[in-house]
Amino acid sequence: MSSALSTLCLHCGMCCDGTLFTQVPLRPPEAEALRQRGLSLAVKEDGTAVLPQRCAALEGLCCTVYEERPEACRRYRCQLFNALAEGEVSLEEAKGVVDTAHAKVDAVVGGVGSAEGGRGPAMRQARVAAASLTLAPETRESLAHAEVYLDQHFRGRFRRSG
Ligand code: SF4
Ligand code: SF4
Repeated sequence: MSSALSTLCLHCGMCCDGTLFTQVPLRPPEAEALRQRGLSLAVKEDGTAVLPQRCAALEGLCCTVYEERPEACRRYRCQLFNALAEGEVSLEEAKGVVDTAHAKVDAVVGGVGSAEGGRGPAMRQARVAAASLTLAPETRESLAHAEVYLDQHFRGRFRRSG
């Protein structure tokens, strides 16, 4: 990975911290390797293991299992990453997009009144509350704005997992 791309991801972390996704699919050998490292996994109804997000392997904005990260993590490239890789945006522009995304997510975090665990867990809390119609209207609006921005610049059609 080029240093500009690495700088961008170390400025962002949203594909690992639970902001964008709730889980990463794992192949059985990957699940076994992560278990051996002491990471707790979740098991879906069909018996397959997944890596819940915020990822337990994330320290700050760094992946502590980077060389052995799952295939789904290796393959994932968000739209902003691709735009920087293709020279469609500069590093400064891309970092600005991340800053805007963080600000939109932080508006949601403030609305749920919990920064414990960081942005990802707060977004999950907000999504659950929105689904059960218990989220305050202004926070629901902040959540909707954040989701649109995240889809527009990060998730798009390249969803790694829910
Ligand atoms: S969401 Fe994109 S820019 Fe952010 S860390 Fe993941 S790949 Fe990098
Ligand atoms: S294993 Fe590493 S790359 Fe994959 S979600 Fe966790 S921190 Fe991110």
